[in-house]
Amino acid sequence: MTRTLSACLASLFLLALLIASTARADNLTLDQHEQALIDSGEPITLAAMYDFVPFSFIEDGQHKGFVADLTKLLEQKTGMRIDVHTGEWSNNLRMLREQQIDVIADISFKPERTPYTLYTTPYFEIPTVVFTQKHFGEYKSLADLSGKRVGVLQNIFYLPELRSHNDIDVVEFDDYERLVRALAFGEVDAAIQNLTSGYHYASRNAYTNIKVAGEFQLRNVGREDLRFGVRVDRPEIRSLLQKGMDAITDNEWDKLIDLWVGSESLGFIRNARTVALTPEEREFVKQLPVIRVHNEENFEPYSFYEDGKPRGHSVDLVRLLAERAGLQVEFVSGKRWDDYLQMIRSGELDVMTNIVRSPEREQYMHFTTPYLRLAQALYQHSDSRPINTLEELKGKSLVLPDGFFLYEQFSRVPGVNLLASSDSLESLMMVSTGQADATIELMSVADHLSQKYGVPNLKTLSTLNIKGGEPLSLHLAVRKDLPLLRDILQKAMNSLTEKEKRELQQEWIARTNNPTHYVHLTGQELAWLESRAALRICVQRHRMPYEQITEDGRHVGAFADMLEKIRNHSGLSFRLVPVDNYATALSALQQGHCDLISKSPLLPEQQSLSFTQPLFNTSLVIATRLDEVFVSSAEQLEQKTIGVVTNDDPHLWLQQSYPELQLHTYPDLPTALNALNEGDIFAVADTLPAMARGLGQNFFANLKISGQIEPNYTARFAMRAEDATLNQIMNKALMSVTGDQRESIGNRWMTAPTYAERTDYTLVGQITLATAFALVLILLWNRKLSRLNNTIRENNLQLLDAHEELKLKNRMLEQLSVTDRLTRLKNRLYIERIFDQEIARAEQGGQYDFAVLLMDIDHFKRINDHFGHAAGDATLTDFATILRGNCREHDVIARWGGEEFMVICPNTNAESAETLAQSLCRAIREHNFPLIGHCTTSIGVTVWRPGDRQKSMSIRADTALYAAKESGRDRVCHEF
Ligand code: GH3
Ligand code: MG
Ligand code: MG
Repeated sequence: MTRTLSACLASLFLLALLIASTARADNLTLDQHEQALIDSGEPITLAAMYDFVPFSFIEDGQHKGFVADLTKLLEQKTGMRIDVHTGEWSNNLRMLREQQIDVIADISFKPERTPYTLYTTPYFEIPTVVFTQKHFGEYKSLADLSGKRVGVLQNIFYLPELRSHNDIDVVEFDDYERLVRALAFGEVDAAIQNLTSGYHYASRNAYTNIKVAGEFQLRNVGREDLRFGVRVDRPEIRSLLQKGMDAITDNEWDKLIDLWVGSESLGFIRNARTVALTPEEREFVKQLPVIRVHNEENFEPYSFYEDGKPRGHSVDLVRLLAERAGLQVEFVSGKRWDDYLQMIRSGELDVMTNIVRSPEREQYMHFTTPYLRLAQALYQHSDSRPINTLEELKGKSLVLPDGFFLYEQFSRVPGVNLLASSDSLESLMMVSTGQADATIELMSVADHLSQKYGVPNLKTLSTLNIKGGEPLSLHLAVRKDLPLLRDILQKAMNSLTEKEKRELQQEWIARTNNPTHYVHLTGQELAWLESRAALRICVQRHRMPYEQITEDGRHVGAFADMLEKIRNHSGLSFRLVPVDNYATALSALQQGHCDLISKSPLLPEQQSLSFTQPLFNTSLVIATRLDEVFVSSAEQLEQKTIGVVTNDDPHLWLQQSYPELQLHTYPDLPTALNALNEGDIFAVADTLPAMARGLGQNFFANLKISGQIEPNYTARFAMRAEDATLNQIMNKALMSVTGDQRESIGNRWMTAPTYAERTDYTLVGQITLATAFALVLILLWNRKLSRLNNTIRENNLQLLDAHEELKLKNRMLEQLSVTDRLTRLKNRLYIERIFDQEIARAEQGGQYDFAVLLMDIDHFKRINDHFGHAAGDATLTDFATILRGNCREHDVIARWGGEEFMVICPNTNAESAETLAQSLCRAIREHNFPLIGHCTTSIGVTVWRPGDRQKSMSIRADTALYAAKESGRDRVCHEF
């Protein structure tokens, strides 16, 4: 009896201990009001619904559901007592308003409720989804419902929008239960409704053949947010509830969702495609559903304007972000960069894309985190002397787009003759035609543009030694008075998966010449890079052929070439920290004076460091005088004197691994080899490439490479172990360097010793005669072979280059010959070709029609007279932009002459042509031209008739145009 009692007591005690410890574990830091509420011991009252499955409902006389469990969890977390009352929604809400209860559950944020409600953050957001049968694919957009029968709830608010899609057969249902049944029995192909009710009815009726195909997103169809609402006079209750909610772990949330909403939806909710916005943000989206976003004319592949449409990576990115956030985008095209900055200041524009962050710009814009980091290069005329440093740039003319980040930067550099261009294409053109000495541009942009427009005579140089030439991070920026918009875009950006980001980038980057080189950096990696100015890499001053700092401060050698490749592929920027030897580099790395070193493979791995994949493979060799025997291992060298370069890794390694060796140290390899030549020492140890170079350069006729003592010498980059992100980045970047590129770096620096240039056949003869060792033979043979290979490869490359150049030139000629220089529209030559093609097509019969619009700006002479010829030109350019923006993709727009334009509309009948003309006429009328205000245009329209020639059609269009002018201008007339 006593034993049972004591056992009982013991377990009670244990239980108490357990409870106490859980209470402690969840101990929150409370302010005095919250503490007072707990101390009072008074329960708070919470009104919940009795019929809101699965969140809050009555079953077997008990309150059950997600909210019931959440409430218990909150009591545990906060120590507060919560009395739950269940009732009907509108009555609950009335009680909250009249402060008869403290808290209401399952409330959504609505601005009109704020006078009497304090909200917590949502504990659940119910998405509207598309349910389908199991065999249906994934739902991504409305296009997936084309030709399908789609069930929705009667009178649901998005019904009109859905009905406007003629290709969707919309069927209405009285309630959700019937809708789900109709889907399960195949009466409809898809059912749109909220996730939870759909699951509820599906599981209650055991319809196992249906699934969620994707989230349904239309404008204004967001997610239904469920929160607690607290009476407005009790802020401490809200803050206590919020603290309790914040203390719930991810695991606990998952369990709640899993239990009540279903594990299947759990995965779905985690991968859900919309962005959870705060009430304020949501309201903002409602108030400003359309955002105006900058679209460059010629910033390919990131943002450009082509065939009347904004295109490019940032255009797609912004569209995607907007879709997530429920915003619509209007792109503003055809302005100069500087104008856009002005517009964002004056509030005419909301978002800039592809923008570099600077303190000056931060004064009038909010920036998101970067989404791309890109390398820049310097472009020069191919015949000019290379510009490698900032000093060399001085006294030269540098052209940059007006208002670009770099333009601002270089305007502060004295001695550089800075020229302004309207965009990147113009900069490249100016360099190509000799109007400027150089431009600095993102490599991918310059590649694209010079490919597309065939800009000839350019050469690319590294900007490694030019301040301002570092890789750039591109951001979105939002005008100053819309901080919420930045937050919303940022959230949307954060919601993109790496896969989505990569796909988006590859879609555009893959059009460049070298898609395989492209390195995709994750958001986390970009952020890591952002957090420091540049990566500091320790570079040894004299360590050829690996690396060397030249007198003019340049980094050359195999490592330097490798770094340059990495820089170009990944947009990483490096700052060189020169050091004298490997030992100094290592300690600089450990003490944080640099972030990266090229690590010797010889020394033991250290826990505090991490390493990349190999850069180069080679071996450690021994040089002796000609008459010595072959050396195959370090042990053979015992008792002998070995020369090494002080504190270089062979030195450190031999010292550690073979303490019995007698090492003599020398400041550099030539000195060591000299000593060997003089007979002071028995041998010299170094890596094969260094040795080959040392022997060749200094022409030691009596020395040879007599063996290798370590066959695997594999250089890697090393970084501090805590910089795991850097390791990841460097490995990716290294992977982007192809085998061919490695080989050509190797050929350039590592396998072609300089003594080849002054071949001494007696030496070769001596070596082969005096030493019959296979190793040496192989070494020599390899060198010969690689020289031969090099020559062949170079010849091939030259041929290829010539071929490519010819192609480029042809393309450029063709482009130039059909493009109007001022408006960049097609010219008359081109459209006359199209005209003939269309006539030929129409003559083949069938139901083929096409139309011709001839337009002439009204009273253009007055514009020139009033505002000057330059304003006239600008008006023509703007006019062209408006035409591009308002025509359809397949319409061909050309400048017909002076202030006359022609549009050919393939596959278009009289009625549609008239509609298009009217809309163009209106677009011009309504446009506010920056320099001249308003202007109008007259349009003559005609369509093809059997037997028509170009001439007959042009005459009809012209007659119609004349009629439009005669009857008062600013109108459309036709001659059908
Ligand atoms: P209407 O409404 O009858 O067409 O009057 P208009 O003044 O537009 O017609 P008109 O043909 O008399 O004048 C056209 C003017 O357009 C004359 C010419 O100087 C000007 N123009 C033609 N090409 C260019 C150009 O490339 N740049 C500029 N600035 N003006 C041009
Ligand atoms: Mg005219
Ligand atoms: Mg005119």
